[in-house]
Amino acid sequence: MIVTPYGQQLISIAEISSTPSMGVFYVQAEMAILDEFQDFCVLECSGCKQKKRTKDRKDFECPKCNRKTSLVPRCSFQIDLIDDTATTTTSISVELGEKLLSMTAEDIFDITCTKRQSLSLNHVHEMLSSKVFEIQLRKSSWSSSNTTTTTLSILSYMEKQHTTESATDRTFKKIKPLEISEVEVMATTAASGPSNALGKFESPTPTKKV
Ligand SMILES: [Zn+2]
Repeated sequence: MIVTPYGQQLISIAEISSTPSMGVFYVQAEMAILDEFQDFCVLECSGCKQKKRTKDRKDFECPKCNRKTSLVPRCSFQIDLIDDTATTTTSISVELGEKLLSMTAEDIFDITCTKRQSLSLNHVHEMLSSKVFEIQLRKSSWSSSNTTTTTLSILSYMEKQHTTESATDRTFKKIKPLEISEVEVMATTAASGPSNALGKFESPTPTKKV
């Protein structure tokens, strides 16, 4: 059993996906924003904070507040967690999301919904790459008619101080040069003649392990 420095039990991404129990879990994983073309924000009623399925920011008659209210953007987006066992998509919102993107919800709404542009995420990809985070997740579910939806949301995250070898060498940046050098090695082996063919087949292929 692995525990965090604060004594919480860690579970793997595969386990959190398969467990039927709901609640708060702790994982150690890499974080990546794989969907760059999401809106990164939603509009909610300024009164009751209920999420609205619209990108049109005009005043509306809120049935819950029973008055005319304005819509305000809230930062909310999908982020993927990756460990040795699996990959899962979770949601991150409000302050955590704004902090991760270094942007306010107003700025995000202006870019993705008003201007219909995609966010520039280079600085975020850079910040997340080759890092392992200790992440507190809430798994929750709700039922409507006969379908049950299960969601994972990030409650908090912090960078793990000592990253392990196995975790860091799985990142995109380090896999790419490995593939290139492998191609080069195979090309030179093939060019040097049929006498080396046996050696070529015996050489390990690193990509298959990934
Ligand atoms: Zn409302």
